[in-house]
Amino acid sequence: MSTYRIREERLPALFEETAKKRKLYLPTDTAEGVAAFLPYREGMTLTASLNTSRSAKDLFFPQTETLADFKVSGREIAVVDVREECEDFLLFGVRACDVKSFEILDRVFLAEPVDSFYKNRREHGTVVSLACASPVETCFCGTFGIDCADPEGDAAAYRWEGYYYFVPLTEKGEEYLASVESLLEETDDGPVWDAKGEIYRKKERLPLKSLTTEGFGGERTKELFDSEKWESLSEACLGCGTCTYVCPTCQCFDIRDFDTGRQIRRYRCWDSCMVSDFTKMAGGNPRPTQKERFRQRFMHKLVYFPAENEGIFGCVGCGRCLAQCPISMNIVKVMKALKEEKE
Ligand code: SF4
Ligand code: SF4
Repeated sequence: MSTYRIREERLPALFEETAKKRKLYLPTDTAEGVAAFLPYREGMTLTASLNTSRSAKDLFFPQTETLADFKVSGREIAVVDVREECEDFLLFGVRACDVKSFEILDRVFLAEPVDSFYKNRREHGTVVSLACASPVETCFCGTFGIDCADPEGDAAAYRWEGYYYFVPLTEKGEEYLASVESLLEETDDGPVWDAKGEIYRKKERLPLKSLTTEGFGGERTKELFDSEKWESLSEACLGCGTCTYVCPTCQCFDIRDFDTGRQIRRYRCWDSCMVSDFTKMAGGNPRPTQKERFRQRFMHKLVYFPAENEGIFGCVGCGRCLAQCPISMNIVKVMKALKEEKE
């Protein structure tokens, strides 16, 4: 497979060239002191950690979007189709765990009936991943078989000794690298292996490296559902939904209508199985207590999702919920507590 490289100081030129041809999003450090995927503007630089506060799912499944408008005139209602072909865009510097989350979202949104809004963005989006040279102590992608040193995507990038190396992995990735070939030089893949080796050494020192999925999966439904641990685990949960919103694999949404005065706008927005009015129906709420809502979120990721998806878990070990839950509750604590109970 071909390998290309560019000197690190030429990266701004690569971004400029890329942004001339399509919209470019980079994980960059913001004034709020966190890293975020933002549209590229001149002078923007790549964040060092890649550990963005919100995930890259926002670019394919935005927090809110209009689905349709309804124009009401007397007794007539006209439906306005607001769908438009999305412009081409490129996400640069996506971590391996976040790239893997797209596969999980694809299984939900691209299954019949296909979500045409999501599909449109997936078709027009190109993903250039970047091997995670600085995994942090909240990272545990390895638990789910994800290799942070060897990310997937349309093209994979590796940083090593003053260069960025690129390996195309799909047709889209090849097209992208061809579009900026005047800035790249072809090279051998030796440094890519060196870059990976360095990351594996760092990974060995991560505190969660021994966490496994043993004891979880589709065949454990009843035993895990009935666990007595849910009571104490969920006791302090505020039901704030933060863990859901920052999670790259959570995909629940609500659909609502808003009367603008001239028309009705139908939009969807993220929702969370952790909040008390989620899936509220005329007959009441199917999960009236926080314990039930809390259990649902983790059972879905660790049991129901793998049961329906050839064993693939609904978590990629990105660590965001570990870093951002206001009461320090998270999926790692849940997994450890449920395992302890079994032992
Ligand atoms: S559950 Fe937590 S660690 Fe797992 S993908 Fe979601 S935010 Fe990341
Ligand atoms: S687990 Fe934490 S982040 Fe998630 S809803 Fe409960 S309090 Fe909020």
